Formats: sequence, structure tokens, C-alpha cells
Amino acid sequence: MIDGTSLAEQFKAQIRQRVAVLQSQGRPVRLDAMLVGGADSPGAIYARNQAKTCLEVGIDYHLHELTNAATEDDILGRVLLLNANEDVRAIMMHLPLPDGVDTERIQSMIAVEKDVEGVNPANIGKVVYGRRSLVPCTALAVMEMIESTGVKLEGACAVCVGASNIVGKPVAVLLMRAQATVISTNVHTQDLDGLVRSADIVVSAAGVPNLVRGDMIKPGAIVIDVGINRVKGEDGQMHTVGDVAFDEVSQVAGYISPVPGGVGPVTVAMMLRNTVEAAERLGG
Ligand code: NAD
Repeated sequence: MIDGTSLAEQFKAQIRQRVAVLQSQGRPVRLDAMLVGGADSPGAIYARNQAKTCLEVGIDYHLHELTNAATEDDILGRVLLLNANEDVRAIMMHLPLPDGVDTERIQSMIAVEKDVEGVNPANIGKVVYGRRSLVPCTALAVMEMIESTGVKLEGACAVCVGASNIVGKPVAVLLMRAQATVISTNVHTQDLDGLVRSADIVVSAAGVPNLVRGDMIKPGAIVIDVGINRVKGEDGQMHTVGDVAFDEVSQVAGYISPVPGGVGPVTVAMMLRNTVEAAERLGG
């Protein structure tokens, strides 16, 4: 089992030390997050949790709230102010933004060196070229989880199920950079089962419960489940499950990450790590 909660705690301990070093040099670490829509917006719970996690590792959390009435120019104006503020080292934007606001335009205006979610296309470009950059947090989490197994990536066959900009594509690129042989699949892929069966590493980020079944897995493969789906269980209660049929797949796989307690907590830790990295690079 690849225990995301325990891996995340190990990362947080390292992050706490790096924050302490910067603080001792008079360089406090801060994360500036923007939330549009106020306390009722879907990002609000995430923002509250983020504030707690930042506190745990010594990062100052600044939440900039705008109401649902905010226009694209209002949001953009706030981003530009944060970009220009030298005390601000790390910026993230809670989604979704109100209807009619061009999210991609806003993301592309976040200063490249402060973009700790790695959503500015310039950062994605650097990921593709293998240059030093801020990498999307979930993709980083997936790579850390794979690397925690100690399995050699060079020459391994990796199948990514799902090819979104925020997860599937950056994961595929990072695996390519690690010299794996990568197959990227999507909703139109023919013979998904056969392709997954050929994989030493399976990363599923499709958002479809039970998409990856036990009979699709090569014995001993690494299976990373990024999916987060809410489904009604036999008990009539709502449960959070991934894309992977855990009970079946865990019988065959060599390593498997659970949901919950897998990619989620490591992603949170990667956001904190990107925040520290942004602070280290800007201030030094
Ligand atoms: P998305 O909807 O943007 O993309 C889904 C991708 O999966 C698309 O490329 C689509 O073509 C593909 N897909 C859908 N059905 C498929 C099928 N039957 N076979 C093969 N490919 C299929 O989703 P996203 O934003 O990448 O999120 C994917 C899942 O990961 C969601 O459940 C989301 O909640 C979860 N997620 C988790 C984290 C985390 O930190 N744990 C972060 C982001 C997203």
C-alpha cells in the first residue's frame, strides 16, 4: 500500500525545516490564495483546510476574498497587484471562478515565478522542456508516490488513464522525462483494458468509479489512483472512491494507492513544497 497520509507527513516535516531556515534568514514564507464567491463558494472548505495546513508548517496564509459579483477585470486586477507585491512569493487561485470569467486568461496572468499550482502555460511549457519550474501539484504527487516504491522508471511501460491539462497530461510528460515508455489514454481510446494490461505503472485520473478492474492489471504493477468520485454505497451513505476497483486490483498489483488517503494528502503537501520553493528562489 502506498500510504499517502504518511508520505505527506514526511514531506511536511521536510517543508517545516525549509520554512524554518528561511524564517531564520528573515524571509518569512507566505501563500496568497484568491477565493471568488466568498464563504459559500465550493473553494471555501478547501481554503479553510489550506489555512490549517499552512499553519502546521509555518507558512503565513493570506486569503483574498472577492464576492461572486467580481468581474474578470476585478479578479485580474487583484492578480496583478499580488504579482507586483514583493512580499508575495506564492499565488494560487481557488476554482471555480464565476460563470463568464475566462479562467485560463486569469491563470496565464499569474506571475510565472509565483504560480505554485503550475497553471500558467509558461510553467507547463517548462515542464515539457524539462526546465526548472513549478510543476502542477497533483502530477508531482503522483511522481513522488511512484518513486517511493523504488521501482526503476527507465524502460518501464506507463499507462495514464485520462489526459486532462491539470493531471493526465503533466503526469505523462513527467513520466516521459523519467525515460518511461508512456501511453496516454482518454475517453475515445480503443481497447483500454489491453493497454492497461501491458503497463508496469498505471495512473488513473479519469473520474470514473470502477474503471480500472483487477483483470486489467499486470501482476506486480504500480497502480496510482487519482480519481475522486462520490458514490452511494450499499449502506445508502455517500462515499468517496477512486477510479480503481480497490479490492480486486489490490489482489494483483505490486503497489496501490488508496482513495481516500492516497494522492489527495500528497497533493496538499506538494502545494506547500512549491510555496517554499517559490520563496527560496525569489528571495535568495
Ligand atoms: P477531467 O474531467 O478534466 O479529465 C478526465 C480525463 O479522463 C479526460 O481526458 C477523459 O477523456 C478521460 N476519461 C474519461 N472517461 C474515460 C474512460 N472511460 N477511459 C479513458 N479515459 C477516460 O478530469 P481531471 O480534472 O483530470 O480529474 C480526474 C479525476 O481526478 C477526478 O475524479 C478528479 O476529482 C480527480 N482529481 C484528483 C486530484 C487529487 O489531488 N487527488 C486532483 C485533481 C483531480
